[in-house]
Amino acid sequence: MSTTTPQLQVSDVKVHFPVRGGAFGRVRGAVKAVDGVSFDVLRGETLGLVGESGCGKSTLGRAVLRLVEPTAGTLRFDGQDLTGLSPRQLRPLRQRMQFVFQDPYASLNPRLTVREILEEPFAIHGLARGPGERAREVEALLDAMGLPREALERRPHEFSGGQRQRIGIARALALRPDLVVADEPISALDVSVQAQIVNLLVDLQRERGLTYIFIAHDLNIVEYVSTRVAVMYLGRIVELAPSAALYRQPRHPYTQALLSAVPVAEPGHRRTRLLVPGEPPSPLAPPPGCTFHPRCPHAMERCRREAPPSYPLGGGHFAACFLAEPDAREAPSDAAPGGRTGVLAQPPSPG
Ligand code: SF4
Repeated sequence: MSTTTPQLQVSDVKVHFPVRGGAFGRVRGAVKAVDGVSFDVLRGETLGLVGESGCGKSTLGRAVLRLVEPTAGTLRFDGQDLTGLSPRQLRPLRQRMQFVFQDPYASLNPRLTVREILEEPFAIHGLARGPGERAREVEALLDAMGLPREALERRPHEFSGGQRQRIGIARALALRPDLVVADEPISALDVSVQAQIVNLLVDLQRERGLTYIFIAHDLNIVEYVSTRVAVMYLGRIVELAPSAALYRQPRHPYTQALLSAVPVAEPGHRRTRLLVPGEPPSPLAPPPGCTFHPRCPHAMERCRREAPPSYPLGGGHFAACFLAEPDAREAPSDAAPGGRTGVLAQPPSPG
């Protein structure tokens, strides 16, 4: 159950990676992986973070936990500013903010047994002091993940992908965090086990009151798990809205195109497929103005010069597009974004 209290406040966060070159390794530019992102995550909610590969969503997920250092901006967790904290000052807060990795196999030490993997966070943070207490915590974790007790003495390679992800989730939850960033937690798994892991995450959230940032490219899964959804394009959030509003009436041309490619479960309902030409530009040299303008069929002269701010549309819905500007919304126009069809529409693809 989400509340209106922000657990996490992200303000104008940037992550720029220097690009070096030449004989002396001078800095020749910067990859703007995340370029001025602001949002709140409310306690107990799931914020879905979507966008094409390379849009910066994984870097942003790591930056909010300071697993990569932001170049600029502010991060507040439960009102406390994280940005200036030293690693030692950050340590007690680390227990409360955890990360679930995409590839559970790569993130688990192959030499350790599951018991050792799950005991490690307690040892690092000096918790569950006695061996009996620690063993009980580890067994309770395993039960919560639906894994048998025999699993404790085995090593990661002895498990299937889905079981390994359960171990990865168990390790992330060992210290009873409040906030979990799950970075594509099911994309490395067989389709047959993806739903099990998603349902496990949803159940654990309900039982433990967790707050999630759920990063994924599967828009159906994101709709299922998310309270609100943020859409990223080239290092920026271009649209943010409650999940139902975003999927029913996306307002940014990029979101409209992304969602038009998602199959609809309702019988008789068919979406018009909207095609976005070309590839996303390089974050090393993003276009001026609205960074989506080279691919946007609505692009106007102004879009090539000015970056649109994020316009509030009511009900917690925001879109960074000049067509969402109040004046543009009031003036009836063929170019106004109108749900998943409109002037972006291309002929429906066969099938
Ligand atoms: Fe398209 Fe202009 Fe809106 Fe950017 S600001 S999405 S280019 S209409």
